[in-house]
Amino acid sequence: MHLLPMLLLAVAAPTLGLSRPPPRRASRRATLFAAAAASSASVLPVAAKDRVVGYAKQYDWDKTLASGQNFVLRQGGTEPPNSSPLVKEKRAGQCVCAGCKTPLFESAAKFESGTGWPSFASGLDGVETVESLTGGLLGREVRCAGCGGHLGDVFNDGRVFTGTPAAITGKRFCLDGAALVFLPTDGGESVSGDGLSKRRVSRPAEVELPSWLQPPKVS
Ligand SMILES: [Zn+2]
Repeated sequence: MHLLPMLLLAVAAPTLGLSRPPPRRASRRATLFAAAAASSASVLPVAAKDRVVGYAKQYDWDKTLASGQNFVLRQGGTEPPNSSPLVKEKRAGQCVCAGCKTPLFESAAKFESGTGWPSFASGLDGVETVESLTGGLLGREVRCAGCGGHLGDVFNDGRVFTGTPAAITGKRFCLDGAALVFLPTDGGESVSGDGLSKRRVSRPAEVELPSWLQPPKVS
């Protein structure tokens, strides 16, 4: 480059904005703050989304699960105390997931907690626990390892229940019976723990329509 063009460029550069300093980079603190804000804003959606990991499509669940089972397993809902027939179930047997039939709890670990929810001192391999939205302060969330379905919560106050299996493990798995099906060892009929569905009003989609109002069948 010749000298004259260089001089002209040096004079014109500020006007053209060529010598403007690069924009200030965001400080690390600001970056961390923004990241924290973003993550806290996404806590709820992420947790809700987690509940669908491993699930079939919602459409399939709607067809296979009763509304009470769907409410607990799929939506992470909590049933009212004493609503499940499994609270008073005392026979020998096993509880499996109402969604995917994974074995979850043995009756030998069941104890009377007086809470109104089926309670167990320990779970089988099909049970997994994840940090709950309360950050563990109020226990951990219990899920089915087979399908990711929400089952209830586990607390570390088992030792309070003296004379029960929970006093030995120190754990209290507090479950929503609607997520479970009980299979008695004696081969008797299975018992659905869902005490909710009968109470719930059918959703509009479940109401039987007269034939002339029904949508055409898709083959
Ligand atoms: Zn399951």
